[in-house]
This record gives sequence, C-alpha cells and structure tokens, in this order.
Amino acid sequence: MHINAHFDGGNIVTKAAEKPSDIRLEIRMDEGGEHGQWFYFQLCGLRGQPCTITIENAGDMSYPKGFEDYGVATSTDLEHWFRTSTTFDGRSLRWEYTPTTDSTWFAYFAPYGYERHQRLIGHALAAPGVRAEVLCPTPDGHALTLLTFGEPATDRKVCWIIARQHPGESMAEWWAEGFINRLADPEDAVARALLERAVVHVVPNMNPDGAVRGHLRCNARGVNLNRAWKDPDDTDSPEVYFTRQRMHETGMDFFLDVHGDEALPYNFVAGGEGVPSWTEAMNQELQAFKNRLAAISPDFQTEHGYPVSPPGSSDLRKATDYMSETFGCLAMTLEMPFKDAANQPMPNIGWSPGRCQRLGAACLDAIWQTLA
Ligand SMILES: [Zn+2]
Repeated sequence: MHINAHFDGGNIVTKAAEKPSDIRLEIRMDEGGEHGQWFYFQLCGLRGQPCTITIENAGDMSYPKGFEDYGVATSTDLEHWFRTSTTFDGRSLRWEYTPTTDSTWFAYFAPYGYERHQRLIGHALAAPGVRAEVLCPTPDGHALTLLTFGEPATDRKVCWIIARQHPGESMAEWWAEGFINRLADPEDAVARALLERAVVHVVPNMNPDGAVRGHLRCNARGVNLNRAWKDPDDTDSPEVYFTRQRMHETGMDFFLDVHGDEALPYNFVAGGEGVPSWTEAMNQELQAFKNRLAAISPDFQTEHGYPVSPPGSSDLRKATDYMSETFGCLAMTLEMPFKDAANQPMPNIGWSPGRCQRLGAACLDAIWQTLA
C-alpha cells in the first residue's frame, strides 16, 4: 500500500496505513494554520481489497458542515470523476472503497491543476484579439495572469471576471474554462456580440500559489485574498494589490467573482446589498441578472443562498462589496456547490467539472443580455 500527495494540489498526511481496513489520514492546514478543508491524494496497490479510509481531523476544518451529505470525488484516470458516499460523525469523515485498479485518486472536489491552467491560457491566446498580461509574480513565483478579450472603446462596457480567490474552490476554474472557451470561440454568435459591446477581463485563477500548495482558502503568505480588497499589500497579497490597480486603470461596469461554497448544495449569486451606496436600481439589476441566469441554466436557482446583507453590513475587504461601492456597478459573487445542485441532483457525479463548464458558458448568455 502506498499513499501520497506529492503533486500539484496534493494535500494529505498519513497517520496509519498498515491495514486497508483502517487507513487513517489528516488534512494539512493552509499556510497560517487558520484554514483547511481541501484534500487530494493517491492510493496505490490495493486493487480488489476493501478499504476503509478515515480523515480524522475533518471536524476541525473550516466548514465541518461541508462534510455532511457529501460524496468524495474519486477517479482512476484523473479525467473522469465520480462520487463515493461518505459518513461524517462531526469529527471524522469516513468512506469505504474497493479499488478497481492499482491507483485511485480522492479529492475534496475534482482538481484543476496548474498545467491545465497554462493550457487554458494558451488556448485562449490562439483566438483572435486575445491578450495575456502578467499582473504580478505571486509570492511563490507563479504568473498571475489576466486574459483580455476585445478592444477597449469609449462605447464599450468593461467587464471583470475573477475566479478562484479561494484555491480549494477548484470548481471556480472549471467554470472559468467553460466561460473562456466559449468567449474565445469565433464561431459563437453570442461571444462575438458580447465583444462588440464590451471588453472582458478574466483572471481565471486569482490564487495559483494556494492551488498548487493544496490550500483551501489562503495564498502562500496565509492571506485570505477575499478579505484583502480594501487594503491590499503588495508583499502579502500582491494578487489583489495588482489586480485592483489594473481595475482602477480600466474602470468597471460589470463584476463577477466566482467561488464554491462548502455547505450549501446549490448554485447561487450573492450581491453587494450591504454597501453604503446601495440603491433600488442596483437591486433591480441584481435580481434581473439572477432571473436571466436561472432561465438560461436550470442548474442555477434563486431560492436558496446566503441571507441578504442588511444595509450598512458591508465588508469592503470582500471583492463584491468593494466593487459595488467603488464602481457603483453590478457586482456579484457566484457560488457553486462542493456537493451537488440539490435542485437538479446527479448523485453519481455530484456537482462536476462538466457542469461547472456549462454553467460558465451559460453565464456568457446572461452577461450578454445584461449588457444589451
Ligand atoms: Zn470562496
């Protein structure tokens, strides 16, 4: 038997692996020690042997409720991911699995690796009129890359879309891939029409260091980037500092920040309702976007989500609140589930890479209609 997490995005600590019936593991916390929940590891050499796998510190993680009614993402080829059902007693997360091959991977959600990230940028750059710009080197030395689609013009709106501030929310980059592949398709009439109306800036992975390190929420300096927008630091949160600087240069008419939610089994949008400058017109724009997206994609819904922030409760350290208040534009956080979309359940795969990609493609329609 061999268990390891020594690869891009890997995270596990082996506590006991003498018997397949009693494999005990722990999740390693993010830099800074405050957050943790992401795991991703390989189990080798147990073909045909019933295994019981326990993550002993699951109850100490950032969102224990994320492990209730949860199925672990499982793959034998890193292409196809299915779910294996788990039990959670408030302390330990446990599942049983009999490997069908000599190598099985388990992850909190289907991983989106750095090499795929680079291929995504390469694919986008093959399309006409697309530019890639390195906003900064990250603390670990990765390139923080901004893709820009379309030419700025006085009569064109400026859209900003960022994904994966929280690196364990790999669904955000699967979403970005679906969105970018459609936007980069010159044969897609909606993509062409959108780029007549708007220039679209996309940062498909705001936190490559955290993603490669196997973090849930923080960058290499232990900073939760979605608490850094009000006062970013060019050393500790350069990902936000330099992205924000570029946003102020271009201005902004539309903003979407793509995330995953550990606990809620739904796709939903949260707005900037709590900011001081919130108006009824902004609320109507927000509701209209949500209704459009729900009409386009049945995987999206408007009934379940976070409680609406009451007036004056904003947190300008969060991207959506900062953009709402600073630019006065429609600014939203899109949340996708780690579990499944309970309004359209698919228990075998749960919320999956393919469903993320298709929701990303659907958002292109909603944005185009919003800017019409
Ligand atoms: Zn998040």
